[in-house]
Amino acid sequence: MNDSRVASKAPLRILCQQEHGSCAACCGVSNFYDRSDAAMHRRLQRRTALVLAAWPDESELARARDQLLAEEAPEVLFAAVKVCPFAGHVDDDARVGCLLHPTRHPTGADLRDLAVYPKEVCAGHFCASHDWLRPREADLAQSARGSVYGRVVTDAALVKAVARAVDDVLCRGWVSADLAGAGAELGALWTLLLQEWPFVDPDPRRFGGFFFDGADAIERSLPSACFGLSVAVSAPERIIIDAIGTRPLDDADGAAALGLLRGGLARVARAMGR
Ligand code: SF4
Ligand code: SF4
Repeated sequence: MNDSRVASKAPLRILCQQEHGSCAACCGVSNFYDRSDAAMHRRLQRRTALVLAAWPDESELARARDQLLAEEAPEVLFAAVKVCPFAGHVDDDARVGCLLHPTRHPTGADLRDLAVYPKEVCAGHFCASHDWLRPREADLAQSARGSVYGRVVTDAALVKAVARAVDDVLCRGWVSADLAGAGAELGALWTLLLQEWPFVDPDPRRFGGFFFDGADAIERSLPSACFGLSVAVSAPERIIIDAIGTRPLDDADGAAALGLLRGGLARVARAMGR
């Protein structure tokens, strides 16, 4: 199959699932106005219940698909990015994955053509992070746990910037072995940046460094949230601040935001044995 979404060869290291985190971003799980943990959980629970009730009858599954697509349509953020209703809770309530995966089928049948992409795309697509993250950056991304994992692992620019910002604090390039002693601090940093950041843009159409609007949405890069600040901001700090969807900052908020970010980075660096 000649489809640019399908890798000619699987990457050596697949980032989609790991022991402490899972991702289904390319199946559209984050493409909603409300991306709170509670809304994501409710949506995934609903899908899982409907799909399991239909499983593995193909016409019942098609009916469940159509019902879920209709229910979720008003909540979708960016119409040009497909949302597959077959991404749900697999194994337990915390792990997201493909409910149609052939390993789940009693005879191993691949029913993914029922979904929003051809099954070859489902089986063979690996997002850009698989190419762009160097080994230590992939290790850093995989320090994320739980519901922030998918958000971290799919944002190569954010991961690279955090890696460089920690280098800057350490005054040396850290190596993967340094991550072992900093698991708790890294977990706290990802939580701060992606779940607790007090300077996040309140507009739900903001997604990381982009802004989406309606069915005809085009993604538009925004001016940096740090634009015009009188305090000095390093290049990696600016990339981090923009990637996590920060609203435009004035000098007071800019200083507070940098203080929070630098505090989190410093705790990681200390735990790495600065
Ligand atoms: S977005 Fe990337 S890491 Fe996430 S499920 Fe898709 S290919 Fe895997
Ligand atoms: S059917 Fe394809 S698009 Fe849908 S959840 Fe499974 S892998 Fe993702």
